[in-house]
Amino acid sequence: MTTTRFAPSPTGLLHLGHAYSALHAASFADRATGGRFLVRLEDIDITRCRPEFEAAIEEDLAWLGLEWERPVRRQTDHMDDYRAALDRLEAMGLLYKCFHSRKELDEALSAPHNRPMMGPDGPAVTDTDTLMPEDERARREAAGEAYAMRLRMAEAVRVAGPLTWRDRGHGEQVGRPEVFGDVVLARKDVATSYHLAVTVDDALQGVSLVTRGEDLFQASHVHRLLQALLDLPVPEYAHHPLLVDPDTGRRFAKRDRSLTLQALRESGVSAAEVRRRVGFS
Ligand code: GLU
Repeated sequence: MTTTRFAPSPTGLLHLGHAYSALHAASFADRATGGRFLVRLEDIDITRCRPEFEAAIEEDLAWLGLEWERPVRRQTDHMDDYRAALDRLEAMGLLYKCFHSRKELDEALSAPHNRPMMGPDGPAVTDTDTLMPEDERARREAAGEAYAMRLRMAEAVRVAGPLTWRDRGHGEQVGRPEVFGDVVLARKDVATSYHLAVTVDDALQGVSLVTRGEDLFQASHVHRLLQALLDLPVPEYAHHPLLVDPDTGRRFAKRDRSLTLQALRESGVSAAEVRRRVGFS
């Protein structure tokens, strides 16, 4: 029995690319044979997420004819789950506090001897704590300044050992999370991160097949590492290509307001037509 999920961030209205992604996830769940299809609201980006987009997402998915299990999991309702995972990694000695602002980090890393390799999420920084004088770190800590929690990647990879998983489109994978550097697992403004929340949620929700866009293919390396460190089950993965607008040759994005499902619906396009346009008639 397959459990899949569609995990949008409520930072805007859904567009055709989301319709494709959601229909894709639901098609793999095969509810006829007892499969489960879940929707998860990934709302940890508190400055950009809006309740009205949450409501619109559910309205659009229902309009498309999708059915999903309730209740919908909203990430900010489950901060304790992410805290527990962080505590566990901290007890393993795998986390450290990073007090740098983005600007300070950029400055520290501009020195030629510090310049990191580029990773999938940006510069693959390591041991950022060593880039700040000890007394300055202590001062900021004593002053209660905000910090991010980073994973000590080299040590984490050593503890986890070899990592493998299966991606339906790309076959057997071998983990190389080190290309990300010391990923942030808890941000300064919210005590989790995309990588941590998604991994913990997929495990807690019993997701057996993670379906999502190909832009997140590399992220699976970090997720697989976290599964190993936290003793979580390893799902299968299926990354779909990102849908391109035939008129512009560009990916659909939240900025293309005319192509939101709401705008299409209001202009009289039927759900069947939307399904057909994204290949799910
Ligand atoms: N929340 C992510 C997005 O909207 C998807 C994350 C995932 O499916 O792992 O792009």
